[in-house]
Amino acid sequence: MQRVDVLIAGGGIIGTALAWALARRRVGEIAVVDVDLAGVYASSELNAGGARATWWQPVNIATCAATLGFFRQHRAEFGFREHGYLWLYDDPALFARAGEKLDLQNSFGLGVTALRPADVAARFPIVDRGLDELVGATFSPRDGLINPNAVRAWYRREAEGLGVRFMNRHYIEGVATRLTNGSANEATQVNHRMVECVDVVEVQPGDPQDDDSVLREILTAHRIPRDRRRGETQIGCGLLVNCLGAWSALLSAKLGIADPTEPLRRQIALCDVRRSDWPANVDVEGLGMIVDTSNVYFHPEGSHFLAGFSIPEEAPGYDFRYDGEAFFEQHVWPRLAHRCSLFERCRHAGGWAGLYDVTPDRSGIAGAVDGFTNLFEAHSFTGRGVMQSYGVAVAMAELIGTGRFGTIDLAPLCRGRFADPTRWVKEDLHI
Ligand SMILES: Cc1cc2nc3c(=O)[nH]c(=O)nc-3n(C[C@H](O)[C@H](O)[C@H](O)COP(=O)(O)OP(=O)(O)OC[C@H]3O[C@@H](n4cnc5c(N)ncnc54)[C@H](O)[C@@H]3O)c2cc1C
Repeated sequence: MQRVDVLIAGGGIIGTALAWALARRRVGEIAVVDVDLAGVYASSELNAGGARATWWQPVNIATCAATLGFFRQHRAEFGFREHGYLWLYDDPALFARAGEKLDLQNSFGLGVTALRPADVAARFPIVDRGLDELVGATFSPRDGLINPNAVRAWYRREAEGLGVRFMNRHYIEGVATRLTNGSANEATQVNHRMVECVDVVEVQPGDPQDDDSVLREILTAHRIPRDRRRGETQIGCGLLVNCLGAWSALLSAKLGIADPTEPLRRQIALCDVRRSDWPANVDVEGLGMIVDTSNVYFHPEGSHFLAGFSIPEEAPGYDFRYDGEAFFEQHVWPRLAHRCSLFERCRHAGGWAGLYDVTPDRSGIAGAVDGFTNLFEAHSFTGRGVMQSYGVAVAMAELIGTGRFGTIDLAPLCRGRFADPTRWVKEDLHI
């Protein structure tokens, strides 16, 4: 049996960032195991590329502010465009709450300001419709847009340079544990469990067309076609970290742990607005993310606009179908055109669907898993995993390396909070 000191399940942006952060601390031999390191169905490759620290919960602000600071250091390589987030409000109560959060946000140096509708029209002439519906907006100039693929590639390259092994096409099918005595004192003797090894199946590659449908079957039906099982092996580990994103609950279930998370499909459409239609008074290329009152969010992306919308009645599940024109026509275009005349004549140019891993309070889960001596987790970051990746990775590496959180305290994100609703980290600035 192969053996490593640290085994990271999942090579999305979180697992890869953590591998790098741990390798920097020289914690021993580290392996990252993923069925598809290219990430065809990984949320890390299917997101909107938004990066903001403007949240309402301190732990979410802290992790994102640290990550944005890191993005700034690699601005050119990561394609970080610090063009801000404009968040529009039509609900007075919600806008009042946003106002109450400004001091907290600005204590992290974010420079967030509240705008009146007239300021919105003057500063963001792209927003030229429905201004009378607005009660105000916030603008956070230090937020922006990022190339998530470049960030993940950086974490991976640096991790590999420090000796981390990335095992592609390896699917984690099972996990073996044993009981251990957690306390020397018999009166208070507590039985803990210890992860011994994971059972891994190596998946045989095929031609690209066929390969995509095999991957989809594995990541939606959670089974490997018999003719693709190249070999089975066990990897022993000193400790295991669950970074499987929207698939984390499946590994947790194999360990007898019930996760409160759900995978939820989220769709993104690309809109074609002819350059000749760009208004002369709008610096389109200088725009960051705009979040409309209708919850559609959009930003310029190359020669297109990228627009995302979360259908409220979406049922949970591992679903990667993109609804195409129907999604664009029904959900995206009417909202865009209602707010900006620029979109009156835009065309649907494509799109995709990916998974959010959603918790009941819309904040992620991170820390050591109670009842185990060597099990950790960092997952379920809802729509925030890219912008939290550095902060979460550094904090988790500190916890694993030293036994406690240091620079950023992720204790509020422990799974134990779900037993007591007063400890939930309810994040309402969620889209
Ligand atoms: C439409 C959309 C828009 C988003 N917009 C943003 C945004 O603007 N900004 C932002 O910060 N975040 C955004 N997010 C969220 C962000 O993309 C995720 O939070 C983040 O990518 C999660 O990273 P991860 O590493 O936890 O999971 P993933 O990237 O999903 O990685 C999990 C990995 O686990 C692997 N895997 C699964 N099961 C197994 C198994 N049994 N064995 C081996 N490997 C396995 C998968 O192949 C995958 O590579 C968005 C997400 C979506 C879907």
